[in-house]
Amino acid sequence: MSEVADKAVVRVRHPLKLRLLQVARVHDVTPHLRRITLTGDSLRDFVSASFDDHVKLFFPAPGEARPELPALGPNGVEFRDDRPRPVMRDFTPRHYDNDACELELEFALHEAGPATDWASRAQPGDWLGVGGPRGSLVIGTGFDWHLLIGDDTALPAIARRLGELPAGARAIAVLEVANTSARPDLRTDAELSVHWCHRDGADTAGPLLLQALRTLALPEGDGYVWAAGESADIRAVRRYLVDERGVEKSRIRAAAYWKRGAQGVHENLED
Ligand SMILES: Cc1cc2nc3c(=O)[nH]c(=O)nc-3n(C[C@H](O)[C@H](O)[C@H](O)COP(=O)(O)OP(=O)(O)OC[C@H]3O[C@@H](n4cnc5c(N)ncnc54)[C@H](O)[C@@H]3O)c2cc1C
Repeated sequence: MSEVADKAVVRVRHPLKLRLLQVARVHDVTPHLRRITLTGDSLRDFVSASFDDHVKLFFPAPGEARPELPALGPNGVEFRDDRPRPVMRDFTPRHYDNDACELELEFALHEAGPATDWASRAQPGDWLGVGGPRGSLVIGTGFDWHLLIGDDTALPAIARRLGELPAGARAIAVLEVANTSARPDLRTDAELSVHWCHRDGADTAGPLLLQALRTLALPEGDGYVWAAGESADIRAVRRYLVDERGVEKSRIRAAAYWKRGAQGVHENLED
């Protein structure tokens, strides 16, 4: 689906599909971000209408080659009562190609967890289950400016958004990564300014993204803010933009993509 070229924010639903896919290629975008290209004939009708979409990944159980996918019943997914549920995590469809039957995902590699462990070891031919996207929030590209805020887990969505923004759009990205080696190339036709925050060697007096925002001048006009990353950090960013910078709540989409000390967290941050 093409981008909405105005200031509309539109929800779109998609029929739920579960796909069993195989790894075609593995490529390290940076030493911290691994792109895994999946393939399978069922990707011919894959659809992802927004950079903000996510798919649910189903990982194989330890010792198994393929993940156990739930059934699709009248009320959605149905897990078998007699088997443990597969481990599931949310990831962004970074890019897809229906003709080539390929789907690209990018994994921010971190210390440990089923998704990062799987991605660290992934080889061509490995199996992965992919559910969705169930729906999309399509954010118009016609805002006067687009502020994109996030850490490594938001890089796939932000890089996709930058790739989709047309010439003439104005984008500001505030991005937190470990160090300079973790900065991917960002390609865009938009006019882009990027503010990088590095965790290594940083003064940890508060969330780095928030510190960077405090010194950022926002342009005039109608903007839209998209932010995703660690739960407490993005909560603080959203509060600051609403309370201290006067950004309207309807012009911010903020999400927790993970939470320190918790597994597989996804929260849309609203009041
Ligand atoms: C809508 C949505 C889209 C997302 N898209 C992407 C994406 O495209 N790419 C991507 O890499 N991630 C993405 N994420 C984040 C990803 O789902 C989480 O980071 C997830 O927790 C990783 O699973 P895991 O099995 O590796 O770790 P878990 O088992 O979930 O967690 C294990 C431990 O690691 C910590 N942890 C989790 N993630 C990180 C991290 N990034 N850095 C440091 N510590 C961490 C947890 O707090 C926990 O203590 C997305 C999340 C959501 C909700």
